[in-house]
Amino acid sequence: MAFDRVVLVGGTRPEFVKLHPVALALCGAGVPVALLTTNQHRSSAMRDTFLEQLAWPCAVEALPVSAQDTLQLFAEILTHLPRYLRPGDLVMVEGDTTSVLAASLVANKLRRPLAHLEAGLRSYDLRMPEEHNRRMCDHIADYLFAPTEFDAAHLRDEKVPGNVFVVGNTVLDAVRQNVARLDDAPKIGEGYVLVTLHRQENVDQVGFLREVVRFLRSTSLPCVFPVHPRTRDKLEAAALWSSVSDLSHVRLLEPLDYLAFLAAVRDARVIVTDSGGVQEEATAPELRRPVVVLRHSTERVPAIEARYSVLAPPNAEKLLGLVTDLSWFQPKGSSPFGDGYSADAIARLLTGAQRLAA
Ligand code: UDP
Repeated sequence: MAFDRVVLVGGTRPEFVKLHPVALALCGAGVPVALLTTNQHRSSAMRDTFLEQLAWPCAVEALPVSAQDTLQLFAEILTHLPRYLRPGDLVMVEGDTTSVLAASLVANKLRRPLAHLEAGLRSYDLRMPEEHNRRMCDHIADYLFAPTEFDAAHLRDEKVPGNVFVVGNTVLDAVRQNVARLDDAPKIGEGYVLVTLHRQENVDQVGFLREVVRFLRSTSLPCVFPVHPRTRDKLEAAALWSSVSDLSHVRLLEPLDYLAFLAAVRDARVIVTDSGGVQEEATAPELRRPVVVLRHSTERVPAIEARYSVLAPPNAEKLLGLVTDLSWFQPKGSSPFGDGYSADAIARLLTGAQRLAA
C-alpha cells in the first residue's frame, strides 16, 4: 500500500511514550511523519511533559478537541481529524484508547491505510472499554504490529484481514533510548513499593479503593504513589483520600514525568499497578523490576508466564503477601516484549511495503 506520510495519532501518555520511538525510526528512514494529539490527555502532567521531554523529530499538532466525556471526545475526533489528513497519509495508532478507535474509524472511512501498534492484545474482560477498542481497531487495520507471537495468535484465530507482524513492543525502545538520561533524575527513595492505578473497572469501584487503602495502611514498607487524576477524583469522592494522605510511610505524588517515572521504577523494590505499559516496561533489561498486577486478568500474559509479574485480585492481605515475599519473581530469560529495537523493525516493514507498492 503506497503512502507519502505517516500520521501518528495519539491521545494519552502511554501512546506518546510508545509512538515516540516509531517517529524517530521513520524519520531516520527518511519517511515524512507528523504527530497529531487528540487532547484525550491534555494536562501538563499527562500530555505536555511527554511532548517536551521526548524530543519529537516531526511536526506536532493538536486537534481542537475540548470534550471530557468519552462519547463527546469520540465525536469531536471524528469531526476534526479528517481536516488534518492528506490523500497520501497512512494513519498509525497505538494501543486501545478512545482516540485509537476514533482515529481508526476515520482512516477506514477515508480509505487511508491504517497501522495498529500493539495489535492482538486480549484480556477477554469485556467490562474493559479498552478490550472493545483494540478488537475493533484490529479488524479494520491494514498493518498489525503485534508485540509477541502470543498476541499474533489471537489475530490469526480471529482471522483479521490485515497483515500481521510480530515486532516486540516499542515501550522497550523508549526505555533503552532514555535510560542514560535517568542519571540526572532525583532518587525518590529506596526499597519502596511503587503504586500506580487508573483503570476504570478498578478505581470506579469503591470496594477496590477500600482494599488499596487497607493495603497502604497495613504495610510497613515505604510506598510511593503517583496518583492518576482519575484515581484521585475517585478516592476523594469515596471519602478515602484522607485515609492515605495522613500516612507517613506513603508518599502521594502528582503523576510523574516520564524520566522521573522510569527512575522510580528502577529504584522500586516492587511495583503494584493496573497499568498496561508499566507491566511491559518493567521487563526491560535496564529496569527488570517485579510487578504485582492489581487486576483480575491481564492481556500482558507473556510477562506472567515468564514470571516477571504476578496477577493479584484486589485483596489487601494477598497484596501484602506478594509485596513482602518476592520469591514469585523469577524472570525467565530476556523480556518477552522484544529487544528494544521494535521501531526499527516497524520502519523497515513499512518502507518495504511502500517499495513493493511503488
Ligand atoms: N507513566 C509516567 N508517569 C507516571 C505513571 C506512568 O510517565 O506517573 C508512564 C509509564 O512510564 C508508562 C506509561 O506512563 O510508559 C503508562 O501509562 P498508563 O499507566 O497511564 O496507561 P496504560 O499503559 O495502562 O494504558
